[in-house]
Amino acid sequence: MKIRSPIVSVLGHVDHGKTTLLDYIRGSTIAAKEAGGITQHIGATEIPNDTIENICGDFISKLAIKDLIPGLFFIDTPGHAAFTSLRKRGGALADLAVLILDVNDGFKPQTYEALNILKMYKTPFIVVANKIDRLFGWEVHEGASFRETFSNQAKSVQQDLDNKIYEIVGELHKEGFQSERFDRVSNFASQISIIPISAKTGEGVIEVLAMLLGLAQEYLTEQLEIDENAPAKGTVLEIKEETGLGVTLDAIIYDGVLRTNDEIALMLSSEDVLVTKIRSILRPLPLEEMRDSKKKFRKLDEVVAAAGIKVAAPHLDDVVSGSPLRVLSEDTDVEQEILNEIDNITIDTEDEGILVKADTIGSLEAVVKLLREMDIPIRAADIGDVNRRDIINSSIAYDENELHGAIIAFNVDVHPNSEEDLNNSEVKLFSGDVIYQILEEYEEWVKQKQE
Ligand code: GDP
Ligand code: MG
Repeated sequence: MKIRSPIVSVLGHVDHGKTTLLDYIRGSTIAAKEAGGITQHIGATEIPNDTIENICGDFISKLAIKDLIPGLFFIDTPGHAAFTSLRKRGGALADLAVLILDVNDGFKPQTYEALNILKMYKTPFIVVANKIDRLFGWEVHEGASFRETFSNQAKSVQQDLDNKIYEIVGELHKEGFQSERFDRVSNFASQISIIPISAKTGEGVIEVLAMLLGLAQEYLTEQLEIDENAPAKGTVLEIKEETGLGVTLDAIIYDGVLRTNDEIALMLSSEDVLVTKIRSILRPLPLEEMRDSKKKFRKLDEVVAAAGIKVAAPHLDDVVSGSPLRVLSEDTDVEQEILNEIDNITIDTEDEGILVKADTIGSLEAVVKLLREMDIPIRAADIGDVNRRDIINSSIAYDENELHGAIIAFNVDVHPNSEEDLNNSEVKLFSGDVIYQILEEYEEWVKQKQE
């Protein structure tokens, strides 16, 4: 048995600072390199524990978990769409999440979306109120803890920030969450911590790292236990063409060990299973080596979870993002398990109802789950753009029941050849990239139809 690093995802509205926060964490940990530095993965960055200890010092000295876990594993593809494709059977791939808000801008559509998704997957999270350096009169203390920088601000600035925090508390309350500024939280199990930070100046980032370790200790110790000799389990982030390598896939391994020449099973967009053999496992070269090498990747013989890797193997073209990646094993019928997984999402559909289309397995799962919670019947659910067949079938459904002539399309397009079919039909399309907004529009439409 081994304890792996908790996988941490950063979510929030566009421009609220996800990338800047991850960059700051990476930069500050590179600066603290004497303690081990960071490991750059595909789609992730791992910050080792001694580095975190170096940065956080007293803030985490009492936490037992810091001696157990190897570090924090930050997913580098932030955003809620990425979050939903970062799935594993029965839940989110991320063990913890950071919901980032611009303290001057407040809640936005993607903030609500992120909250809904965190609620649905029951992922423990903290809220980060970013860009405090933009508050009127804020005096910057680069890299300081929030406590330190806050205590050095003018009274009026402190008051201004607190007012903004209370707006966030109020908004979270409406969404069903109790919350408080982190240093006023009395019960970490029932209250969400809000940490004011500046991703730009690093103020408060110490507390973000410390609080993530605290959450890991509180909720995750069992979840993080892995068998480092077991066949690997992972999730596909992306399928990518690489010069010299052909079509490759980027994946996060969250359990077990993956080795070159392992046979792996993956899901295809046709909803069949592909079995293929790993030709090579690759990880980006460290920066120093990248400079004097034409190569971008280093070959590895094996990796143990948690790891972000690129895999080169034959026949990857039609693998779908969000697909499970499983090493074949003698004890379990992995291929059947993968088929069951897609069936769980798509087959449990009714004879009558609407059609759901989405871009990845994870997003499809999220939309289907939300629709079921709303008691909306689903006739079919699949991955991919809206095509001619979808429109024909929905027209037939419309003729039987107008309410069933709807297509919910998340993060997908209408196939160019089918636009005209759609316009000439009675079929109603609800599309976009914020699930709850699509569903709100759909409900509004249902209401109008029923009147
Ligand atoms: P993302 O879309 O959530 O990844 O947001 P980015 O990290 O790209 O940030 C959007 C913009 O806000 C960029 O111009 C950043 O420089 C700026 N920004 C992010 N965090 C801060 C902050 O803490 N303070 C200030 N002043 N600007 C910030
Ligand atoms: Mg970004």
